[in-house]
Amino acid sequence: MIKYKLVFVDLVKGFETGICPPVIEIYSQIRELFHIPGYLDFAFPSIETADYTDLTISTGHLDFYVSEALNNQGSVRSLCIIFAPAFANDPETLGYLFDQTSNGNGFPREAVAVFLPTINSFVSRVAARLTGSSRQTIQETVRKEMVLRTVCHEFGHLFNLGHDLDFNVMSQDRILLDKLDSFDVSERFQNYKSASRQLCNGHRKMLENAYVDPPFTEWIPWIHPGKQPFINGLSCEGTALTGTGRNIIGEEISQDRLKITLSPNRTGADFK
Ligand SMILES: [Zn+2]
Repeated sequence: MIKYKLVFVDLVKGFETGICPPVIEIYSQIRELFHIPGYLDFAFPSIETADYTDLTISTGHLDFYVSEALNNQGSVRSLCIIFAPAFANDPETLGYLFDQTSNGNGFPREAVAVFLPTINSFVSRVAARLTGSSRQTIQETVRKEMVLRTVCHEFGHLFNLGHDLDFNVMSQDRILLDKLDSFDVSERFQNYKSASRQLCNGHRKMLENAYVDPPFTEWIPWIHPGKQPFINGLSCEGTALTGTGRNIIGEEISQDRLKITLSPNRTGADFK
């Protein structure tokens, strides 16, 4: 059983101004998706703030704040979410696993960033098309949901979970909200909301199997934060997504080796 500590670094006064949903709501949604009873859990987050006045932030600065906020020694037991201003490299990015390797700070996959002002202005742009008195409420509801979803999506990348074509928390999300309008906001939004609270079975199983005792040796390092670098994410079938040129074990070998079979049995006996 591993219980990770969580550190939220708020560089944009997101909690103070209400751009960000309350900590308890973010924490609850993380647990709803990633808590595996008996195997994997998360402590209530601690919050750090810093006076950061620039309108954008670089990877170098994000790395700096991770190294200030975390003190992982030997293995990663604390994970960090930075609530940041717009990403300097791409101001349209909503969230990013910038910590893909151990370059820049101690371990790979310790930290992610969620770019709050980018989400805020995206939602304002989409909501500007709405008319009527409910516009403000819709805007706030959608923004909150989008922050929750982005946090949890990036959080999945910490565990090397990749993008999924089915609609769930690991799929890419603009499709829905680009077409938000007052007529169908309810149905689309409810779909968006329920998808944001789902992991595919394969991803769920990877998390479960990565934290069993005795461990499944082969691919645990690709799940546990701090071990292997990000490899563009594992699909719901447990394969590395194409484009990496490697299998889950990180070697350049034949395509058949890309397959990782997930056992429905969590005892580990079948893998010996
Ligand atoms: Zn992603």
